Amino acid sequence: MLASAGVALTAVEQGIASGTAFGATRPPGHHALAAQSMGFCFVNNVVIAARHAQTLGCARVLIVDWDVHHGNGTQALVEADPSIRFVSMHQYPWYPGTGAADERGVGNVFNVPRPGGLPRATYVRDLLAAVDAALTSWTPDLLLVSAGFDSLAGDPLGEFTLEPDDITQWTEALRERMQGRPVVGVLEGGYRLDLLAKGVSAHVRALA
Ligand SMILES: [Zn+2]
Repeated sequence: MLASAGVALTAVEQGIASGTAFGATRPPGHHALAAQSMGFCFVNNVVIAARHAQTLGCARVLIVDWDVHHGNGTQALVEADPSIRFVSMHQYPWYPGTGAADERGVGNVFNVPRPGGLPRATYVRDLLAAVDAALTSWTPDLLLVSAGFDSLAGDPLGEFTLEPDDITQWTEALRERMQGRPVVGVLEGGYRLDLLAKGVSAHVRALA
């Protein structure tokens, strides 16, 4: 689990050096709280990566989480700190139960709770709308994607309807919004291996 966090740290360094990077972190991290493991997660890789980026000069960090589950650990660890903004779209109500739209932190949390089974274009649009809200009058120095692929259609732990092409579209749209500033993907969930491979491939190709 420490090696997984180390992968996320190295991905940040690579992203700052070359513009984009992806960390194939296992176990994932976004459910992990400061002193409690949860939901297959032991160490919150993406938050540690965000803090590492800040020590390297990226004062403001945006985290976008498209895993089908709410990143409750990430939210808990950043919700009092306006230097990090957190956008999460997730199935709701669903595990872990958090992630309502009125959970706003100090105005830095942008939750997009959605039921399963919606048209895929709705998820694509609604996440980007929340990202645009987070980017209003605020410019991050680095973007971290909590890239979970259990949001793809057919995953046994989620009921979203996304296809790998949507991952490509999201990744390209996020890169466009960052205008050359670093974009770093950190792997979260994904529980059907063939879909996980397709999703990661789409994401990495769009980062490359
Ligand atoms: Zn998940």
